[in-house]
Amino acid sequence: MTDWKDNLIKIAPYVAGEQPDKSDFIKLNANENPYPPSPMVTEAIKSFDGESLKRYPNADALPLMKAIAEDLGVDHKNVFVGNGSDDVLAQSFRAFFNSDKPVIFPDITYSFYPVWCEMYRIPYKTIPVDESFNINAADYGIKNGGVVIANPNAPTSIGRGLDFMREILDRNQGSVVISDEAYVDFGGCTALPLLKEYENLLVVRTFSKSRSMAGSRIGFAVGGETLISALRAAKDSYNSYPLDSVAIAAGCASIADREYFTRTLSKVMATRDRLTAALRDMGFVVPDSSTNFVFAHHDRFRAEDIYKYLVTKDIYVRYFRKPERINDHLRITVGTDEQTDMLINSLREYIR
Ligand code: PMP
Repeated sequence: MTDWKDNLIKIAPYVAGEQPDKSDFIKLNANENPYPPSPMVTEAIKSFDGESLKRYPNADALPLMKAIAEDLGVDHKNVFVGNGSDDVLAQSFRAFFNSDKPVIFPDITYSFYPVWCEMYRIPYKTIPVDESFNINAADYGIKNGGVVIANPNAPTSIGRGLDFMREILDRNQGSVVISDEAYVDFGGCTALPLLKEYENLLVVRTFSKSRSMAGSRIGFAVGGETLISALRAAKDSYNSYPLDSVAIAAGCASIADREYFTRTLSKVMATRDRLTAALRDMGFVVPDSSTNFVFAHHDRFRAEDIYKYLVTKDIYVRYFRKPERINDHLRITVGTDEQTDMLINSLREYIR
């Protein structure tokens, strides 16, 4: 007799940072922004006309598509909006990676990439980063069915320049290349200027980090019309309305407040640089970060022990048991100045 249990999905899902079921703790484990979204976002939600929810939202989130396009100086036909950049990336994997050759990405990068490959049965191959966690563009010349690069990379926080992305693209004119720019606003270098030259490039961004809107689930992609239509076809074959009407209104309000956006970014970046200096002062090895988090290792103290100690102080950072190459590292999100001071003081106590 057949057993229905044999037919269930067998997959090791992506594991996100813990969400402890309490309120009084310092959460530095999911690269969220410690500051609220722009007051204009809160206002847009407060004044949202509840009655309008009786209608479906615009299927392509058109008002938000247009606002994003205007903000970036591109045509709105080159923008695709999804339910967080995880949704945009998942749809992209489905839409672009239909080759027998493996999709390639670094061994140390966003751990959702292999999960989507498993989910959609896409062959993949990881390419080791070097001992300093740098991605070597020259390693990306092998035959492949697609390339995914997080730039800046996570969890390493290392950002690379335009020449690096150009080299990846030059070596991969026969594949779609995705530049996952979830953290780019915190001092990274965007591949957007390369879109004019490379029709096979897709840039993916999110409102979760720099716009403090992780709870709204807004992500988007910018690319040539051929890629954007493939993406739309994938979306319309799965869920036609990934963004709800409230999120569309809130997203438009965020884009409208440029001043708040740049001010919040500067605050996070200043605190990040102060945190990096304090950690190095305590003997941690920390690469220069182009993101809203830092990646830290200590030669004398085990990352797992530090992580567990911080939990006793109600401070949650991210510790990865796997992959092995990074199982003695911590990924620490940049909090407010006050949260960062509490973290630094706890670490000083521990190390003493
Ligand atoms: N890309 C990278 C590199 C990330 O770290 C994250 C956050 N976990 C995402 C994409 C997805 O973010 P979101 O779905 O909130 O837009």
